[in-house]
Amino acid sequence: MDHKKPPATPESLEYKNLKQGEFWRHVPAYREIDEATFLDHLWQQKHAVKTPEELLQTIEGLASPEFIKDAEAGFSRAPMAVRVSPYAMSLIDWNDPYNDPIRRQFIPVGSMLLPDHPRLTLDSLHEQDDSPVPGLVHRYVDKALFLPLNTCPVYCRFCTRSYAIGPDTENVDKVSLAKTPKQWEDAFKYISERPELEDIVISGGDTYQLPPKNIELIGNALLDIPHVRRMRFATKGPAIMPMKIITHKEWLDALASVVDRGRSLGKDVVLHTHYNSPEEITWITERAMRMLFERGIFVRNQSVLIRGVNDTPERMQMLVKRLGHLNVHPYYVYMHDMVKGVEELRTTIQTATDIEKFVRGSTAGFNSPTFVCDAPGGGGKRDVHSYEYYDRENGIAVYAAPSVKPGKAFLYFDPIDKLTPDAQARWAVREIQDQMIHEALRKAGAGDEALVPA
Ligand SMILES: *Cc1c(COP(=O)(O)O)cnc(C)c1O
Ligand code: SF4
Repeated sequence: MDHKKPPATPESLEYKNLKQGEFWRHVPAYREIDEATFLDHLWQQKHAVKTPEELLQTIEGLASPEFIKDAEAGFSRAPMAVRVSPYAMSLIDWNDPYNDPIRRQFIPVGSMLLPDHPRLTLDSLHEQDDSPVPGLVHRYVDKALFLPLNTCPVYCRFCTRSYAIGPDTENVDKVSLAKTPKQWEDAFKYISERPELEDIVISGGDTYQLPPKNIELIGNALLDIPHVRRMRFATKGPAIMPMKIITHKEWLDALASVVDRGRSLGKDVVLHTHYNSPEEITWITERAMRMLFERGIFVRNQSVLIRGVNDTPERMQMLVKRLGHLNVHPYYVYMHDMVKGVEELRTTIQTATDIEKFVRGSTAGFNSPTFVCDAPGGGGKRDVHSYEYYDRENGIAVYAAPSVKPGKAFLYFDPIDKLTPDAQARWAVREIQDQMIHEALRKAGAGDEALVPA
């Protein structure tokens, strides 16, 4: 038969090729660990790496002593705590940990840290300004973000909520969220008093950390509010510890019971995951996602665009196709938020638009993520392409958000080290910074008074 098209190359089918077998056994600490133990979520939790000493014990002989020293320096300077599951530890390429996409997300190293952009703050999204009661962010008209806890199964270096998430670190004392069922009642009451709220995102922290009874408590309390029509439980967990879905039966049952009850009420309850690199997805993930699918639990994914993790067209395409292959719908790719201490992970608006152009058209439209910039200062998510003006030379993008904060202008800054030497020199001078920003606002058709500082 004349196929007209040349045959698919092996590289283009690589997304289907998931890591198989007992891949963890190459790590000295997990050499004797059998499959049943490795799939046990309690074992994974108990053996997560949280300190430089635990890092050393786990990978001694595998990574170089220089790297381990470097990580020690990174631990002490980072705004986020560290917590890496054996699953993730065993997926890191310890022959080249500096360039490894999983290491880059979760384990800071001192030698790679870059100075922050002069305009960065810790809560760049200004979530606290839109928070009517502790643990609830009501920014958009018909949806709200509920933050019922501040712990996660892993701590991401790039976390948007580094102002609140995880234990205090040497560098940051965290803001306190509502963390107990008693404290959540204020959030439920507020939601019940706002008929425009149809859609609740339950995040955190991370809903993986909620015990089954609290998944049901929160899910049912929200389902009981007549005007709530949609809910999403958000979790990084499946990326870092997919086995919990397989072996923590009560947790999956609790989620499924909320999904089923929602369906009987005509309400949509789904799971949102957070995969960033194709390497996070293995045969264990495939089995876990299959279990969710069989229980009728719809899964969407939100990624963050991270330098050295997924910031090339080929790697993003691979991630998107791998997720689609497992019936996980790639929903968003976020610009990396402008948070402190992670400049080496951010990239430019231009990179995002280039990658989007490459990815769109390579698979189903419903599996093609929207690339968004969560406008610093509280403008909410904007399609990266929708800037009012973009000064590529100096790395300044201006966004507007007419239905969130009408009449306001929001700025996203590209990381300084990605700019030309001339532009870098301009950013070194405060008065020139102000001039460049003023000029970008003018070209965007906004006055200085419209600016919401990041
Ligand atoms: C992201 C977000 C939501 C949900 O937005 P969608 O675009 O519907 O995914 C709701 N509230 C806040 C504060 C958010 O940051
Ligand atoms: S899992 Fe989410 S909330 Fe927790 S540290 Fe990572 S990005 Fe932040």
